[in-house]
Amino acid sequence: MPGHLVNACYDPSRNDITFPAAILQAPFYSLKQTDSENFGGIGAVIAHEITHGFDNNGAQFDEFGNLKNWWQDSDYKEFKRLTQAMIDEFNGRDFAGGKVNGKLIVSENIADLGGMAAALATAQQDEDVDLRAFFTNWGRIWRQKDRPEYAQLLLASDVHAPNYLRANVQPQNFDEWYATFDVQPGDGMYLDPARRVVIW
Ligand SMILES: [Zn+2]
Repeated sequence: MPGHLVNACYDPSRNDITFPAAILQAPFYSLKQTDSENFGGIGAVIAHEITHGFDNNGAQFDEFGNLKNWWQDSDYKEFKRLTQAMIDEFNGRDFAGGKVNGKLIVSENIADLGGMAAALATAQQDEDVDLRAFFTNWGRIWRQKDRPEYAQLLLASDVHAPNYLRANVQPQNFDEWYATFDVQPGDGMYLDPARRVVIW
C-alpha cells in the first residue's frame, strides 16, 4: 500500500500488519486527541488487524503463517458457533436499497469486534479513561460520503460491512457502550444481552 492511502492490512501467510503513514493522523491518531480518542481510533484499527490473525480465515493459519489446524476440537466448534452468530447479527439488514450479506463480511466483522474489545480493555487501564470519547471516535473514523450506486457496489462486493453499520452495530455488543450512553431496553439500538456477540 502507498504511504498516502488511508488503510491498513494483515497478511496471514507472513503474520504481519501494515499501517501506511496516511492513517496515522486524525481522526485515527493525533497527539492533540485524548488517549481515549486514540484508542477508539487507531487503537481499535491496530487491534482489528491483529485480530485478523484469529478471524475465520486467520484461525486456519499457525504462528509461522502455515495453513494448519492448531485448535482443540471443542474450542473450534465454539468458535464456529460464534462465527455464525456474527453472520446472523449483520445478515439481511436493509442497506442502500439492498440486503447485507452476513457471510461476505464475517471476517472483517470478527476483526472489528476483537479490535474494539482489545482497544476498549486497554483504554480502561487509563485512570482518566473517557468511554464517551472512545466510542464517539470509533464512530467518527467510519464517516463516509458516497453516491447510492457506489454504496450498492460496495454492498455487493466489499468484504467489509458498510461503514454506517461498522460504526453503529459493533458497539451494541459491548456492555460498556450501554452504560456510557444509558441505552435502555426499548431504545432503538438496544440489543438483548443474549444476542450480543463476544468472540475475542
Ligand atoms: Zn480488516
